[in-house]
Amino acid sequence: MSNSFDVIIVGGGHAGCEAAAASARLGARTALITHKRSTIGEMSCNPAIGGLGKGHLVREIDALDGVMGRVADQSGIQFRMLNRSKGPAVWGPRAQIDRDLYRVAMQREMAEQSNLDIIEDGVEDLILDSSERVAGVIGQTGTEYWAHAVVITTGTFLKGIIHIGDRRIPAGRSGEAPAVALSDRLYGLGLPMGRLKTGTPARLDGRTIDWAACEMQPADDHPIPFSQITDEIRVPQIACGITFTTPETHAVISENIEQSAVYSGAIDGVGPRYCPSIEDKVHRFADRDRHQIFLEPEGLSTDTVYPNGISTSLPEAIQDAFLKTIPALQAAKVLQYGYAIEYDYVDPRALDAALQLKTMPGLFLAGQINGTTGYEEAAAQGLVAGLNAARLAGGEEAVRFDRAEAYIGVLIDDLVTRGVTEPYRMFTSRAEYRLMLRADNADQRLTERGESLGLVGASRTKLFHVKRESLRAAHAQLQDLRLSPRAAKEAGWRVNQDGRVRTAFDYLAFPDIHFDDLVGVWPELGGFDETIQQQVSIEAQYAGYIARQQADVDAMRRDEQFQLPTDLDYGCVGGLSNEVRGKLERIRPQTIGQAARIEGVTPGALTALLGHVRRGGGRAKQA
Ligand code: FAD
Repeated sequence: MSNSFDVIIVGGGHAGCEAAAASARLGARTALITHKRSTIGEMSCNPAIGGLGKGHLVREIDALDGVMGRVADQSGIQFRMLNRSKGPAVWGPRAQIDRDLYRVAMQREMAEQSNLDIIEDGVEDLILDSSERVAGVIGQTGTEYWAHAVVITTGTFLKGIIHIGDRRIPAGRSGEAPAVALSDRLYGLGLPMGRLKTGTPARLDGRTIDWAACEMQPADDHPIPFSQITDEIRVPQIACGITFTTPETHAVISENIEQSAVYSGAIDGVGPRYCPSIEDKVHRFADRDRHQIFLEPEGLSTDTVYPNGISTSLPEAIQDAFLKTIPALQAAKVLQYGYAIEYDYVDPRALDAALQLKTMPGLFLAGQINGTTGYEEAAAQGLVAGLNAARLAGGEEAVRFDRAEAYIGVLIDDLVTRGVTEPYRMFTSRAEYRLMLRADNADQRLTERGESLGLVGASRTKLFHVKRESLRAAHAQLQDLRLSPRAAKEAGWRVNQDGRVRTAFDYLAFPDIHFDDLVGVWPELGGFDETIQQQVSIEAQYAGYIARQQADVDAMRRDEQFQLPTDLDYGCVGGLSNEVRGKLERIRPQTIGQAARIEGVTPGALTALLGHVRRGGGRAKQA
């Protein structure tokens, strides 16, 4: 049947593209069903990829041969490495993106992907088989599409409502209709669902901005690509402007705050605390007399500018009034007014670590529908859901990534274990093993695993093995070369004269000894290229800390090995409080490690649970 597939992905946003590409890379016959081919890869809000924590996700997606990093490299117009003043573990690769170039490059990636059909349709319903397992979807005109697994990635579209002042416009995002019937269907399945909200600022005509009144922020001199596959960034790089709100701006907003959809009570959904609207900032931080605004061009061939930092749902006239009080924006013409959007999401605790619904095998959810916000968070989930949907269709076991392996693992574990109380975004502080999970070593952590899963193509595999050999050679050589403290002093290095002969690798851990200094003493080290030099330098710097952290990682992995039966009767586990029992029943942790991470589950409760399972009170198995 032409409408029959192994895997169907619903939605061509950031989660959907990555899910479709991952499933197709695994060889599954995949269909990407989305409203419009022309909006595949659309950036609904800020045209930027990466940033703190988010950049790590992009590198990890790339290490698994995902598309986001490559596409961003083809469309990035201002590459910057954020957080350079801090340690390399928390550096954040980020790029301002040309919105059109990104969309075009993503659409090209999807069109060129083998095993992938793209279908324009709006999905309104699910097909369930006689055992209540998902078997496909139904489009707007009643067309049936069949598959072994379905991944829903509908972003902000489920019963989306845009708010501008007191106006409410049903929409998935500006100018696009919401998905109402599909939302009703998900509610009908009895899934735990709720409302969240996010917002976006007005878009401005760059020709009407007084750029001379701004501080300008250039791109990095040497842009570093997101993808291992990209040899260099060829897109021209631009500067962004910086300006600030003024006390007058705050006065206009305060006087009219009741007209903001958020403050008038029109919005029930919870918004992201760390990405507040300008009216939130003025209200919550009343002592601040200014807030920073980045003026970010949306592309090389457009005059549209995204003023990052002033998202709002105030009425149009108030938006006009407060913009006039901002230096550089006094004469700025608005091309599209800011708005807030409210939408349905599914409590991600209804999912397992493969992003499959526990109560409906074969149905996977990824992206904003799971309560996250951001393109990178969506893409990371899409990759995992697409991978697991294809494995399920092929009769293979689900795979998951753990918290010491990848930010992707941290993200999904946080979602399925703790749920969300506001739109979830990634931060480096969410990763307890962040010294290991660096952006620079994402390929070393993940590419080999991706290769064994069939996710990684031939050219990346080859590149990866060449790089790994160079890294091994560099490590071996650095461990072989030795120098006494006296000789080190003669080389001009400040080293404790303790008589201890150290290896070149040990010396590299000293904060003021750099790879170039080693080359001065051992010229043969000059043969390693800059990437290898930088990577081993970072590894040397963190080696001591990582060795100490390894014991924690080993303990965590032991707990992750201890699986709990999914049908465990928590009512029979003695010694649990009602609250803990309720949480365990709702989340149904897959491992004892996951149980330990559920808020409120005490060491005593874990001991009771372990004892019960060990006594045969459940069918727990030691993996
Ligand atoms: P989307 O990118 O929204 O893609 C959903 C896709 O599904 C679309 O292609 C749509 O056409 C398709 N679709 C939906 N329903 C159906 C259906 N029934 N049938 C077929 N296709 C369907 N992120 C931030 O990090 N910071 C922000 O400040 C921020 N602000 C935002 C402001 C606004 C107004 C919006 C709309 C989003 C904002 N985001 C922000 C979020 C960011 O855009 C999303 O996190 C990201 O796009 C989510 O990716 P996704 O793949 O889950 O969904």
